[in-house]
Amino acid sequence: MYMWWALSWLGLALAAGALLRWQAARHRRARARATQEHDHALDAQREDIHRQFHSRQQALFNSMREGILWLDRHGRVRMMNESLRTFFDVTTDVRGQTIMEAFRWHELAALAARLQREQNIFDAELEIQRVRRRCWQVNAAIVTGQPGGEEGLLFVFHEVTRLKELENIRTEFVGNVSHELRTPLSLIKGSAETLLDGAIHDPQQAMRFLQKIDKHSDRLLYLIEDLLVISRLESGQAALNLAQVDLRDLSQRVLDDLATRASSRQATLENKIPAQTIVCADADRLQQVFFNLADNAIKYGKNGGWVTVGARDAGDKTEVFVADDGPGIPPDALGRVFERFYRVDRARSRENGGTGLGLAIVKHIVQAHGGETWVKSEMPKGATFHFTLPKKPLPSTASSSSS
Ligand code: ADP
Repeated sequence: MYMWWALSWLGLALAAGALLRWQAARHRRARARATQEHDHALDAQREDIHRQFHSRQQALFNSMREGILWLDRHGRVRMMNESLRTFFDVTTDVRGQTIMEAFRWHELAALAARLQREQNIFDAELEIQRVRRRCWQVNAAIVTGQPGGEEGLLFVFHEVTRLKELENIRTEFVGNVSHELRTPLSLIKGSAETLLDGAIHDPQQAMRFLQKIDKHSDRLLYLIEDLLVISRLESGQAALNLAQVDLRDLSQRVLDDLATRASSRQATLENKIPAQTIVCADADRLQQVFFNLADNAIKYGKNGGWVTVGARDAGDKTEVFVADDGPGIPPDALGRVFERFYRVDRARSRENGGTGLGLAIVKHIVQAHGGETWVKSEMPKGATFHFTLPKKPLPSTASSSSS
């Protein structure tokens, strides 16, 4: 009896133990499952945050005008923004490629190698000649993420092509101006020295050198005047005083002013502009356009030749021309005569007191009115300069100021 009792208790105790163990195991499994689910949820959340961060970062980079390039530690592309894609005309996915594979740009690959050594690069200048020459100022840094862990190489590209072009134009302009100033100045100085060395005591010689001084001082004055005009026109400070202008009357006043000069070269001046040709222009500036073109036609035309001004209706514009029957302009110079300081025959221009700025001034004034300038010439049959003027004020010039 006692034995049965003991066995029953033992069985009961074993069953209770097994039940407890099963319950504990079940509990453990449930806890593990809960932890796993929690971890999965956390991972998914983290991934989501990461994805959101990256797309926000990409959107931010894409909104920038600067080019952004991010390489991994091994120099392979991880990310580039839209501006850089446009700069390099990249149409495929270049992630995972090296600089040479993605852009075939040796200088950038060399810059990346330098960055690995120096950690930071400020204001490096890179140039690339593809369809045209383009220049960039590049700043770069090694970006570290987790403490001690390098995340990659970040490059920021700022395009400076236009700035470089302007810098070159400025340097060339300063060089040209210095040259143009130096030539008459050294002739003036040379003449003054010759006078001081004794020529002053010979009335004939003295007169010759004084005339030389006078002529080259005039040249300096013209040059400075033209430089001031062009600088005002280029900086947009020259306000246009727009009004309805009678083209025939205005051009006739210019031809009258040039009559003495024309007769010294036995040139005939003709005005073929129809009466009542009205344009919208700044009369003083337009007078300068006619003066420069007609003066050139007399200067570079032939002795005893003719100079004609005319105009025709061209829709909303009036097309004007100034023609001569001189030797004309060689074909290779036709595209360059409107450039500052360009002359076909340097010596002839100087001899005539030319500054090399007359046609550049014409072009600027016409442009400020919203018109165009061009030249046609067939050697040796003469040259014809054309320009257009709007009949009504353009929206950009309506406020009476040049652009
Ligand atoms: P410049 O002060 O030398 O006259 P411009 O800018 O007025 O400067 O003219 C530039 C050059 O264009 C001149 O040096 C000349 O070689 C050429 N040129 C201008 N007008 C004529 C013309 N009517 N016939 C031939 N060549 C001309």
